[in-house]
Amino acid sequence: MMMRAKKRFGQNFLQDDLIIDRICGSVRPTAGQSLIEIGPGHGVLTKRLVHSTPDMTIIELDRDLIPNLRRLLPSSVNIIEADVLTVDFNDFVAPLMIVGNLPYNISTPLLFRLFELGTRVAAMTFMLQKEVVDRMGAVPNTKAYGRLSVMAQYHCEIEKLFDVPPTAFKPAPKVTSAVVQLRPHAPPPHPATNLKTLSDILVAAFGQRRKTLRNSLSSLLTTDQLKALAIDPSERAESLTVADYVRCANLLSQNAS
Ligand code: SAH
Repeated sequence: MMMRAKKRFGQNFLQDDLIIDRICGSVRPTAGQSLIEIGPGHGVLTKRLVHSTPDMTIIELDRDLIPNLRRLLPSSVNIIEADVLTVDFNDFVAPLMIVGNLPYNISTPLLFRLFELGTRVAAMTFMLQKEVVDRMGAVPNTKAYGRLSVMAQYHCEIEKLFDVPPTAFKPAPKVTSAVVQLRPHAPPPHPATNLKTLSDILVAAFGQRRKTLRNSLSSLLTTDQLKALAIDPSERAESLTVADYVRCANLLSQNAS
C-alpha cells in the first residue's frame, strides 16, 4: 500500500500508533461541529476520527492518495481533492473542528489564513515543526517572538500538547515536531478595528526587527504618536506586546478613516 513519499507535498507519514492515538484523543468534536482534516495522507488519523464523525471532510492535494482513501473510508466522508490554500473554509458549516499533521512547507501561510476565520473555528489541533509551535507561543523579548506569535496570540489560546520525535514518521523529518491545540478567543482580548492594519504594522515592525520602532514604523506612525500610545520609539519590534500592537493598529485605522 505504501507509495513513495513525495517531498514536494511535505509528506511525512505518521507510523507511531501511540502518537496517532494521542492526537486523535485530543480532538473531541461535539455534535454539530464540522470536522475537517487537512492532508490525510494514508488516512491513519482519519480512520480513527471517522468513528466519532462519519460525515467529516478531508482535504488532500496528492491525487495518487485519493483512491486508497476512498477504499479505506466510509462513503459518508467528504473527500476534497485540492490544495488546502485554495479552499474557502467559509463554505463549511461553523463551528469548525480542524485537525492535521500539516505539510510543513505551507504551515505558516495556512495558519495565517485559518486565524482569519476567527470564532467560526472551535478548535484546531495540528502537528507542526516544534520550532513553529514555539514561535506561536513565544513571549516578547525572545528570538522566537515575531509576526506569527502576535497573530496566533491575537486570535487564539495556544496549548502545546507534546513533542514528537522524527522517528514517529516515515520518512523521518530532519526536525522535531510538536502537537499544538489552538482555540480562537471569543472575542479577542484586545480587538483590532481592522486586521489588515494590524498585519501591516507587524510586517513593517518585524520585517526590520533590528531597527528601532521609530525607523521601522516611520511610514505608518510618527514618534509622537508612538509616545502617545505609551510606546518607546527607541524599542525594537520584539519588545511590544499583542496589546501594544493592537493600540498601534487602532490608532492607524483611526487616522485612515
Ligand atoms: N495525516 C497523514 C499525512 C501527513 S503528511 C499522516 O499523519 O500520516 C502531509 C499530507 O498533506 C500529505 O498527505 C500531503 O500529500 C498533504 N498535502 C501537502 N500539501 C497539501 C496542500 N497544499 N493541500 C492539501 N494537502 C496537502
